[in-house]
Amino acid sequence: MKASIAVLPGDGIGPDVVAESIKVLHAVSDRFGHEFSLKTAEIGGGSIDKYGDPLPQKTVETCNDSDAILFGAVGGPKWDDPTNNVRPEDGILAIRKSLGLFANLRPVKVYPSLINSSPLKPEFLEGVDMLVLRELTGGLYFGKPKKRWNTSRGRRGVDTLKYTEREIERILRVGFELAMGRRKKLASVDKQNVLESSRLWREIAVEVSHEYPEVELEHILVDNAAMQLIRNPANFDVIVSENTFGDILTDEASVLAGSMGMLPSASLSTLPGSNRTKKVSLYEPIHGTAPDIAGKGIANPIGSILSTAMMLRLSFGMADEADSIESAVESVLSEGYRTADISADGGDVVGTTQMGDVIAGQI
Ligand code: NAD
Repeated sequence: MKASIAVLPGDGIGPDVVAESIKVLHAVSDRFGHEFSLKTAEIGGGSIDKYGDPLPQKTVETCNDSDAILFGAVGGPKWDDPTNNVRPEDGILAIRKSLGLFANLRPVKVYPSLINSSPLKPEFLEGVDMLVLRELTGGLYFGKPKKRWNTSRGRRGVDTLKYTEREIERILRVGFELAMGRRKKLASVDKQNVLESSRLWREIAVEVSHEYPEVELEHILVDNAAMQLIRNPANFDVIVSENTFGDILTDEASVLAGSMGMLPSASLSTLPGSNRTKKVSLYEPIHGTAPDIAGKGIANPIGSILSTAMMLRLSFGMADEADSIESAVESVLSEGYRTADISADGGDVVGTTQMGDVIAGQI
């Protein structure tokens, strides 16, 4: 099969981890006889420096002409001045919005060999296997008004948390569908005791649940969800939440897996199997540009590599190929290879490229 992939490495450790994903893709194409046509394009802070634009039109065209997008991360202290009128993050937000990538799937798995890399006690981590579904194109990150201004009584800032019925219903429906393919438990996260948009969210969750009688629906307030993720993480199957809550909860959940560098994600405009003609999906690790370790060659590429496995499975229907990547990651970890962020239990500490080499070598 021939597949075209837009590669958007971005800033900081983005290019480092994406390079290892490409190495693994080459190993997959050698073993399974596929041809991947890769086109690299610019996004983020580097693109602002060159073109004054975090998402140049050429990048948009490359993405639109591709079957899938492999993204690294954007941002960094160099572009953090709050008075700037363009920010690197605007580039990725605009791609998500323009491609309608409203469903962000973030699987959280604890590898038995990494149980001691997490600060949590091993007994809390046994059996953790959850999927966090984050709404990605609505809520606080996109709602208008969004601005700062000066008043006679000082500076003011506003962001708007707004959701339409359609936006809530479609993400909840994806949540129920995903739960049907798993352990049939859906935890819907909200803050309905305070927020009006959450009260609407909960009401719609109940309505949609009538179409999925086999799925056990639980409503959970976001503050309680943050606690339960640490106290009883194995209890979760699928978690569905609005944009900001999902962003925060998955960073927290990464502690279960040992590091931010471990978690992959897929951003979709529709579930695989549904009959939409053009479906460009985007795959990225959940972490950012990690300015504190950028340029040191020590970033963990596993989140990006596992995102590549998700791309093969969800965009190209290559289940065996995706399995081969996931098994390679599992066996490399059980053989004791560790990047610095997951080396609490010792092991053989390797850099970014070596980790990519050993994983690619096992495909
Ligand atoms: P971050 O995810 O970049 O880093 C948080 C911590 O996790 C850091 O200590 C970092 O060293 C560590 N870490 C992250 N990825 C790692 C990896 N692969 N291997 C080893 N350690 C890793 O979050 P941050 O520090 O809050 O943000 C830094 C920049 O990234 C900011 O400019 C932010 O806006 C941007 N960001 C971008 C995205 C994106 O492009 N999707 C997502 C999150 C943050």
